[in-house]
Amino acid sequence: KSLGVALVGLGSYSRGQLAPGLLETEHCHLAGIVTGTPAKAESWSKKYNIDKENIYNYENFDQIASNKNIDIVYVVLPNAMHADFCIRAAKAGKHVICEKPMAISVAECDAIIAACNKANVKLSVGYRLQSEPYTLEVKRIVREKVFGELRYVSADAGYNSRGNPDQWRLNYALSGGGALMNMGVYAIQSAIYGSGQNPTSVSAQEFSTRPEYFKDTDEAIAAQFEFPSGAVGNIFTSHNANVNRLYSAFDKGWVELNPANNYGPLSGRRSDGEIIKFPHKRQQSLQMDDFAKHILTGSLNRAPGEMGKRDMIIVEAIYESIKKNGVKIDLNLGRLGIVE
Ligand code: NAD
Repeated sequence: KSLGVALVGLGSYSRGQLAPGLLETEHCHLAGIVTGTPAKAESWSKKYNIDKENIYNYENFDQIASNKNIDIVYVVLPNAMHADFCIRAAKAGKHVICEKPMAISVAECDAIIAACNKANVKLSVGYRLQSEPYTLEVKRIVREKVFGELRYVSADAGYNSRGNPDQWRLNYALSGGGALMNMGVYAIQSAIYGSGQNPTSVSAQEFSTRPEYFKDTDEAIAAQFEFPSGAVGNIFTSHNANVNRLYSAFDKGWVELNPANNYGPLSGRRSDGEIIKFPHKRQQSLQMDDFAKHILTGSLNRAPGEMGKRDMIIVEAIYESIKKNGVKIDLNLGRLGIVE
């Protein structure tokens, strides 16, 4: 059986990655669309052969509840709109994929998780790297202690934003934050799977070189983590520099992905000279198939809602530390959101 997916929001990620990705999946397919733009409804319907009965707009979206062709609703809207549409999707009885960052606050993440639990539907965050082979290999190296005990992890994720200053990513009301909300969640994710642990504390600093462009949102942030094992971590996230790397150092060696978080192929090397190499497959297809298999067979949910919520707890702690001039903020996460 192949599950029907409806994409909500037909912006660049849906157009460039998710819709093409759904042509390469085995366990799910593009069945419906939700868009506020009638012209997009028309062109997508032709291009992807989508029946008129499977096309919705933001107002009549809730009627999707009675549509048997749609099993999964995938929310691909600006960050501040995730919670509303994920909750409406759950109330409509559909399984939910929520793009990253899961929402703009921990409270919103809790509300999404509660709505999915109440409706008895599955929930996953659009963390494509959790299904990606180079990333899974780093997780294995950490878990199996191939190079011994983890001592240090460093994770960078960012790009140089120079586009339209009115884009929603630079508008706090729609994004909930700048570099940290956009690329920072990749650095947080990398630091956690690159260490196999959740941090117990974080201290953070914010940097600015172009305040006239970044009026409303953070431009660049560095943060330091302490881990329960005694290991430490550094992350850097930026809307002013092209950084894309994960480096995990152990007592007997290291592993590095560079690039570590783009659409791939990623590239990896190890201190023993081995090159990490896997055949390339579209990350989004792997991710959506993993979630469809989870629904169909009960296999592992690689990016559950708790993982998105955990990352939002860390995001809020980073902003709090910055507000308090870099003071250390304690975290009490246990193993929340860690998927082996
Ligand atoms: P985009 O700007 O290209 O598309 C946003 C879509 O939302 C557009 O179709 C737009 O019409 C619609 N929209 C509805 N109401 C809007 C409003 N008030 N303001 C602006 N747009 C509105 O953005 P995108 O790059 O497709 O990002 C969408 C989501 O996907 C974000 O949460 C982003 O973080 C996430 N994303 C994830 C990845 C990934 O690799 N997992 C990559 C890109 C984007």
